[in-house]
Parts: sequence; structure tokens; C-alpha cells
Amino acid sequence: MTAPSQTFGFGRYLDRNGRTERLLRKAREFRSRFIDPVAHEIDREMLHDPRYNAHDILVRGCEYGLMSMPVPSFLGGGDASILDCAVVLEELCAGCAGIANLFGAHYLGLSCVLLGLSFNQFDTVIREMVEKEKRGEPVVFAAAVTEPMAGTDVEDEDFLRTARLMTFAEKVSGGYLLNGSKVFISNGSIAKYTVVSCAAERSRPVQTWSSFLVAAGTKGFSADKVELKMGMRACHAAVLAFEDCFVPDSCEMGIAGSSTYLTEVVLAASRAPVAAIATGIARGAYERTLDYCRNRRCGSGRLLDRQWVQLALADMFAMLQTARDTYLHAGYLFDTGVMEPLMGNRRLSDPVLELFAPLRRTAPALKVTASRAFRKSVSDFVRLKIDDGMKDRSLAFSSMAKFSCSDLAVRVCLKALEILGPAGAEERNFVEKSLRDVKLAQIYEGTNQLNRHVLYKKHIKGGIRD
Ligand SMILES: Cc1cc2nc3c(=O)[nH]c(=O)nc-3n(C[C@H](O)[C@H](O)[C@H](O)COP(=O)(O)OP(=O)(O)OC[C@H]3O[C@@H](n4cnc5c(N)ncnc54)[C@H](O)[C@@H]3O)c2cc1C
Repeated sequence: MTAPSQTFGFGRYLDRNGRTERLLRKAREFRSRFIDPVAHEIDREMLHDPRYNAHDILVRGCEYGLMSMPVPSFLGGGDASILDCAVVLEELCAGCAGIANLFGAHYLGLSCVLLGLSFNQFDTVIREMVEKEKRGEPVVFAAAVTEPMAGTDVEDEDFLRTARLMTFAEKVSGGYLLNGSKVFISNGSIAKYTVVSCAAERSRPVQTWSSFLVAAGTKGFSADKVELKMGMRACHAAVLAFEDCFVPDSCEMGIAGSSTYLTEVVLAASRAPVAAIATGIARGAYERTLDYCRNRRCGSGRLLDRQWVQLALADMFAMLQTARDTYLHAGYLFDTGVMEPLMGNRRLSDPVLELFAPLRRTAPALKVTASRAFRKSVSDFVRLKIDDGMKDRSLAFSSMAKFSCSDLAVRVCLKALEILGPAGAEERNFVEKSLRDVKLAQIYEGTNQLNRHVLYKKHIKGGIRD
């Protein structure tokens, strides 16, 4: 197989301390040991049994620290930046995007907790996840926004005002009662913790939009139905049902109304990795095709010697390079423009946060961090630390990366199929799966139409800024 480093590099985006390269090496090893050998088998299995659970791969992921990779080091995690996560996901997706999405969807759930600086959850569920990972027990997260009648509409504050919502959180003494349903939730059926976002009031969805951490097994919460998927089959898409599901105040993240802001920050973070997922799928297809052309005899020479093939490969290469540059830039923009200001000087803050961790885990301290007053001050602090212009710019560029990389990736996969034609059954099966997988990258994390809308709204509309 063509080594990725021989094709196109990460150049100036690599972390100067070598962290990105270390993570990438690990990801390559993980992919070759645990993804490549089973990708097709799992994909086939899940066509017949969509509930098949690729749990063993998550257990292996624990060995490689993949579950806690984006968790800051002061909480015991791998401290990976968004750019690091994107690079790792690209690598895993070149093997199988369905398997990679088990981790990608988990990171999305985690990022809602991490980026909202939910201290209460830092010292409870994030700690639990990090500790259990060391014992080879994956604690999976998921994020649930989409509703049966509102997909695009709940991903954008303006559309949310008129969305046809059917999931609500009613305030009751000591917490909230959730009622309604969420659909297409990646990891929803295997997650121990799901971040559920919904409105409290039908007439004021934006002002009352909130997020709650709901644990599997909570009374009134079920995730029994999973979809029969076209692509990325290894990762379940589940229907979540809430019937008078009580969640205590301590499980609310931020405060009512702060979640639309948090959603924008989370999407600014998560869309570059989704762009990387698409790039990885296309890279897998490209590499398979290149190998096939090298080895396949055609008349007196190789298929690779045909000029039409060379031109097609050059096209694919150019699209992949463009895609990679685009998502790397978006990841870099988020890490430097949003994440760094939010976290401040880590050399000073990390030791302090670590020092006070045992104190924070005491019952009285947990009561304080769960209180509304504390959550409100943290929400205000997050808004204060993140420059609004930078957040919008980052969201615009990550949305651009998301739609352009996934559109390019579809084109790369189609070109690969054209080159392979009716021959090369094994490679064709791989590329056919790539095409099924890559379609989802155009849909989730906001459809590509919505992402175009965000680029216009957050960047182009205000005039071209440097
Ligand atoms: C396999 C899978 C996994 C998923 N995982 C998750 C997950 O983990 N968590 C989660 O919350 N969601 C998840 N989703 C949901 C996904 O984010 C939504 O499907 C997506 O947001 C689109 O919503 P929808 O399906 O309701 O389509 P709709 O919103 O009904 O859109 C239908 C079409 O109309 C277009 N459209 C809608 N409004 C506009 C507009 N104003 N302007 C232009 N075009 C418009 C859309 O782009 C789309 O092409 C997943 C979806 C799938 C298929």
C-alpha cells in the first residue's frame, strides 16, 4: 500500500513538539492492526445485522488512548488539538470510516462537555472515561441534536426559531423532565453518556435551548432502534426516545439559552475533523486505485502507463491535496483562534487545575460546580474568552472545509470507480464502500447546503475580512 507520507504531507501544520506525528504513527499502527483486517467483514455483517456491535475495536482503541485523545492532560487525557484529531481521523478513515466514526462521534459528544468547560462533568464522567480506558473499558459518548421533524433547522440559530420541534425539557423541582425523540444519533445505542440538546419552551426555542448529559439506563430514556445504514455501517445511528425522563440540574450543561452559542463553538471545532473524515475516505480509495494501476497489466504495459489513467490520478491527487490543506487550515484556525484563548496559559493553569482536582471531586465542591450560579459564571467566562469575530471566522472556515472536502471526496471516489471499471473486484468493493461511506460526510454535522449557508452568513456577508 502506498505510504501516506509518500503521497502528500502535513507540512507546516505539524505540532512543533512532535505530538501530531506521534499520534499519527499510533493511528497508522492501529489502523493496520485493527481496522484494515476487519473493515469489510464488519461492513458486510452490519448489512444483515445493523445492531452488531464492534465493541472489540473500541476496547483496542483504549489500548491506544483513542477514547481520551482530545481530553486535556490535566484531566488525564491525550491533550490532542482539533488539528491532531482531524489528522488521526483521516488516517483511520483511509481504512474504514464506519469504524473511525465510532471515535469521531464519541469526540463530538466529548467536545460538548469539554468546550463548555463543564467542570462538574470534568470531575465525574470525564474522569470515569479516562480511568476506565486504562482498564480497557470504553465509555462512549454521543451527541443528540437532530429530531424527527428538524434536522437542518436545529443546527442553525435562525432556522431554530421556526423549527418544528418535538423534544422538550420541562423544568421541574431539582431538574428537568425530557420528552420527545432524537433520530440518527451516531453511537446513540452504545453510548454511556449522550449530550442531548433541546428546547424548554416551544415559543422561545433559541432562548431556552439547553444541553443535558443523559446516562444510558436513565429511567424514561431508551435507544432501542438502530437504522439499516448505507455507509459507515460500523457506527450505529440510533433513535432515542424520552418519556418523562428525569435529569437532575447537575446534568444541565451551561444554562438555558447558552446552548446555541455552545453549539456554534462545538461545530467550529467538529467540522474540520468531519472534513478530514471525508479526505481520509477518499485517500483510501485513491491509494487502492493507485496500487491497482501499478500492478494491473494492460496490453504490453501496466494500466499506470496509460495517459488517461495518469491524468485521472493527477486529478485525484490534486483534489486530495486541496482537501487536506483546507481541513488543516480550519483545524489550525480553531486551535489558535478559539481554543488557545479559551484555555489561556496552560503552563500556569494546568498545574493549578490538577492540584485542585481532588478537592473538586469532594461532594461540597461538586455541589458548587453543579449549581446554576457556577454554570452561569462559566458560560459568561467562555463568552468573554472567545472573541466573537474569531468564533464566526473559525465556524465559517470549518463549515467551508466540511462541504468542500466532502464534495471533493465524492468526486475522488467516483474517479476511482471509473478507473477500476468492471475489473479489480477487491479494489472495486473497497471503493464502492468508500463511496457509500463518503456520502454521509455530505449529510451529517449539518448538510453541505447548510454549511454553505453558514460560510455565507458568518464570513462572506460581512465583507471579505483578512
Ligand atoms: C447516518 C447519520 C448519522 C447522523 N449522526 C448524527 C448525530 O450523531 N447526532 C445528530 O444530532 N444528528 C446526526 N445526524 C443527523 C444529521 O445531522 C441530519 O440528517 C442533517 O442535519 C440533515 O437533517 P435532516 O435529515 O432532517 O434533513 P432536512 O433538514 O430535512 O434537509 C433535507 C434537505 O433539504 C436541505 N435543506 C434544508 N433546509 C434548507 C435550507 N434552509 N436551505 C437550503 N437547503 C436546505 C438539506 O440540505 C437537505 O438536503 C446523522 C444523520 C445520519 C444520516
